[in-house]
Amino acid sequence: MATAQAIPLTRHAFADGSFKQMLIDGKWAAAASGKHFESRNPATGELLATVAEGDAEDIDRAVAAARKAFNGPWSKFKPFERQQVLLKLADLVERHFDELSSLDTLDMGAPISRTRGTRLRVLGMLRWYAGQATSIHGETIPNSLPGEIFSYTLKEPVGVVGAIIPWNGPLGASIWKVGPALATGCTVILKPAEEAPLTSLRLGELAMAAGVPPGVINVVPGYGETAGAALAAHPGVDKVAFTGSHLTGQSIVKASAGNLKRVSLELGGKSPDIVFADADMDMAVPGAAMAVFANSGQICSAGTRMFVEQKVYDEFTDRVATFGKGLRVGNGLDPETQIGPLVSVQQLERVTGYLSLGKQEGARAVAGGERLTEGSMAKGYFVPPTVFADVKDEMRIAQEEIFGPVISAIPFNDMDELVQRANATTFGLGSGVWTRDVSKAHRLAGAIRAGSVWVNCYQAMDPAVPFGGYKMSGYGRESGLQQMEEYLNVKAVWIKTA
Ligand code: ADP
Repeated sequence: MATAQAIPLTRHAFADGSFKQMLIDGKWAAAASGKHFESRNPATGELLATVAEGDAEDIDRAVAAARKAFNGPWSKFKPFERQQVLLKLADLVERHFDELSSLDTLDMGAPISRTRGTRLRVLGMLRWYAGQATSIHGETIPNSLPGEIFSYTLKEPVGVVGAIIPWNGPLGASIWKVGPALATGCTVILKPAEEAPLTSLRLGELAMAAGVPPGVINVVPGYGETAGAALAAHPGVDKVAFTGSHLTGQSIVKASAGNLKRVSLELGGKSPDIVFADADMDMAVPGAAMAVFANSGQICSAGTRMFVEQKVYDEFTDRVATFGKGLRVGNGLDPETQIGPLVSVQQLERVTGYLSLGKQEGARAVAGGERLTEGSMAKGYFVPPTVFADVKDEMRIAQEEIFGPVISAIPFNDMDELVQRANATTFGLGSGVWTRDVSKAHRLAGAIRAGSVWVNCYQAMDPAVPFGGYKMSGYGRESGLQQMEEYLNVKAVWIKTA
């Protein structure tokens, strides 16, 4: 059982500063251009690896390998054999879990307590997808045509999938795309984020060891504007599965038009988290706080617009601020750390920009509000849990996705007006409701326009339960049977029997 033990601050075997190649057709390869980029620890600035920098030419090679595997050996795999591969991969991920989770911590900063805490989720996903591999089937559908003509459907893999993922949870994000591809019989080119490519590469290595045939999983690190854009536009790609910002999502939809490839998008959010005066405050305070502070706010469904019923607004906001101030910020490798650094200097500038903006707009920082630079923190990108009080709906900090540990606390009185205000956002990913009143909970569950509503909890996730967006938070679903459909085509077959 892995517990939060001290992780040696020495070098990780996979992040020892050496050169990491990309995985194409089961082989490790340098970029065709010979270019590479650096991956650094956001807590210390330490160099973890130099990484082959893929671009259009490498994407071409990877798409060719993925197509060859899709038409060739992989198409011969029976569902049971794909299931075995997924189960083997799950076993390998389990065996190497501590290594993979510390790689996530090193590469993107999340506390080791958090990355280690994803164990059940990550293994649960792989084994759930394994279960799906033998559960995919079409239907026989009675038709009403005259004569005797039999109709049924086949479910077929959609083909070559371009999977473009962000940096905020590389292990889970990689499995969220590779898992359904393997289960359905697709092949995949995984493009990890430039900020944190290492875990995806190591996962690719484990996939090879699990017996995934060459070309079924290719991992091509590189920048979004080059490798990512080439993948989104490639005529040989049948589907793009994307997680990231809504602006990039829009570029991907445009780029996909050339061959009208299928696209699924899991984008950003500005999720309302609603606290009623009747809520169990001892549960709601840490719940609403961690709905934003977890992963330093770098979660697309974070409950960043905290609507609090007026009569408890001051007390509740103060309690969340006190909770935030009590969280321990530091290097993610320290097992005591609860809040790690932001992933990059760009992300630091973005978040601190919003801290200044919030103050200019007239909001009051009752916790945090400034970058931390004391001692060794100066080398990293640390922003403490921040709570802005006196936030008005129209302020930019209440409308735009910050992607940092920043709560906007907003008072409300009237329930009908609340619904309208909670929905007054271009996004619709997550939402939360804290109440002891079951009718309020049901009413809001129906009224909020978002892909997930969490009542008296936040961010609950399960491989069997769909997750995704309304409005500009994207379309398509991850997890659940709905996700499997994103990777499948339906073919209708008609057979005249007389
Ligand atoms: P974030 O702002 O959270 O980093 P992005 O949407 O920029 O989110 O990045 C998420 C992923 O999308 C990363 O893998 C990134 O390289 C990739 N990406 C960025 N721009 C593009 C693009 N124009 N086309 C395809 N992928 C892109």
